[in-house]
Amino acid sequence: MKVLLSGNEAIARGAFEAGVSVAAAYPGTPSTEILENVVQYEDIYAEWAPNEKVALEVATGASIAGGRALACMKHVGVNVAADPLFTAAYTGVRGGLVIITADDPEMHSSQNEQDNRNYARFAKIPMLEPSDSQEAKDFIKLGFEISEQFDTPVFVRITTRIAHAKGVVEQFDPEKPTVPEQLEKQPQKYVMLPKNARARHPLVEERMVKLAGYAENFAQNVVELQDTACGIITSGVNYQYAKEAFPGYSFLKLGMVHPLPIEKIRQFASKVDKLYAFEELDPFFEDQIKALGIDIIGKDVFPLCGEFSPTTAAKGIGGAAPAAREEPLLEYLPPRPPNMCPGCPHRGVFYTLKKMKVFVTGDIGCYTLGALPPLQAMDTCICMGASIGNAMGIAKAMKNEAAGKAVAVIGDSTFLHSGITGLLDIAYNKGACTVMILDNRTTAMTGRQEHPGTGYTIRGEETKSVNYRTLCAALGIDHIKVVNPFDLQELEEVITEEVNRLEPSVIISEEPCVLHRRGDKKAASHIYMVNDEACIGCKACLQVGCPAIEWRKGEDKGKAFISPNLCNGCTVCAQLCKKEAIIEKK
Ligand code: SF4
Ligand code: SF4
Repeated sequence: MKVLLSGNEAIARGAFEAGVSVAAAYPGTPSTEILENVVQYEDIYAEWAPNEKVALEVATGASIAGGRALACMKHVGVNVAADPLFTAAYTGVRGGLVIITADDPEMHSSQNEQDNRNYARFAKIPMLEPSDSQEAKDFIKLGFEISEQFDTPVFVRITTRIAHAKGVVEQFDPEKPTVPEQLEKQPQKYVMLPKNARARHPLVEERMVKLAGYAENFAQNVVELQDTACGIITSGVNYQYAKEAFPGYSFLKLGMVHPLPIEKIRQFASKVDKLYAFEELDPFFEDQIKALGIDIIGKDVFPLCGEFSPTTAAKGIGGAAPAAREEPLLEYLPPRPPNMCPGCPHRGVFYTLKKMKVFVTGDIGCYTLGALPPLQAMDTCICMGASIGNAMGIAKAMKNEAAGKAVAVIGDSTFLHSGITGLLDIAYNKGACTVMILDNRTTAMTGRQEHPGTGYTIRGEETKSVNYRTLCAALGIDHIKVVNPFDLQELEEVITEEVNRLEPSVIISEEPCVLHRRGDKKAASHIYMVNDEACIGCKACLQVGCPAIEWRKGEDKGKAFISPNLCNGCTVCAQLCKKEAIIEKK
């Protein structure tokens, strides 16, 4: 049967068809929907892990038991999982192990655009790269076969366009997941003491040689020999772009991007007059092909940064651009800067932090939007969990502890992902820092996934929920306060008290994401409006940047207007209006 699937949906289907028994992930754009679609297949055990390292460790354990296992993450998630990844490359697998890395050229929703093809080379494991949804599905099964044949984890790399674009996919009957009957003890293979690891390393090198031979005949490394004036070596979505720009040229489309099929590349190069490497981000193919002594044009004519398009191919290679449709379209799109939702519980927190002029170390999530105008209340944002360590470093570098008191702001999911150890450091090494945990009861930024603090699993079953107060106290934090983020006065009083306390402290802001209040009709039951007669046009209410508040030009300065369709009744703007012009709408 043929269906229309996104790349992420296709990967989930591929896992089902391949008989995967365990799948684990931490949400991260553009990979999130893979696991969200895996849950529709009852035969697969699926879990949101607290972070990518745990996800890969769970998948590795399932593989060691003998089941096929899938771990999914965005590109920066592989950094978090890198520790088990590099050693899983040594141990190899029992059941197949496939790791999805979803890269994000152009950084649509990421803090960097690292090219994770480098991880395949670095960790010495093979990597496949599909160029459409059909391949996204089919490469999962292929990945498991390669994994088991060569005793190795296998990467499948996608990029944002493959993850989110839809294409026609032919589906096949699924294999039944393997349920291992008994565990096999193989300490030489799985206990990576130096003695055993030394024995495994040569096997890894031998495996790469065998895989390089396999790549030569890998059916998904496809040569399309047409006009030989120009040959293009490419992979993934870049194949689609180049093909659209130059359908008549010759192509070597690589389905396996590591290791490269050296002889196939040599032969292809010998048949074309001019050879191009058309690849987003790093010169991964180009550098390796140049090292073979083959002339190839790459980053001299194509950008190192950002996403490609058919126009990129046309500009770099020369010739008429394909029906140019990107730039004119952009002219008509009004700018829509990202913003927190109306009624978001984070808005008052950042308004208060800005008002208090404290140095704020931030973190990854919806609340990173607190860095943008008009709030502009975040001074650093590096990676998941970094806010707490950053605040600690600032406090220790500034010998005057009062001057160095920074406030770390971190969401609940991010705190559980990789903030706990930072807080432990602050408690243990006596950091004069205040950590604000913005507990909105969900992983909001990626679409409200469950996590260990929500009380629900990915399948919606009730489960244990972290008690942040107990956890922080157990880590050694003596000063823990809980605040209502919609009460600006309380927020200011509590933050002032804790910032002036030269000891570790935690403030927990407790209020669910406005999109996530389970059965709570509070937001819908009362909204706010502006009394035109009382409004003096001072614009104080605009300082919180709520999208529900519009500015209507009038005879004088103009007046605020609250869209009744957008307001969620959080009360924050009403607290800022000195004229009491913002009133509850009955
Ligand atoms: S803060 Fe009050 S008076 Fe000032 S613009 Fe807003 S609604 Fe009008
Ligand atoms: S009460 Fe004010 S700040 Fe809150 S959602 Fe409504 S308009 Fe926005």
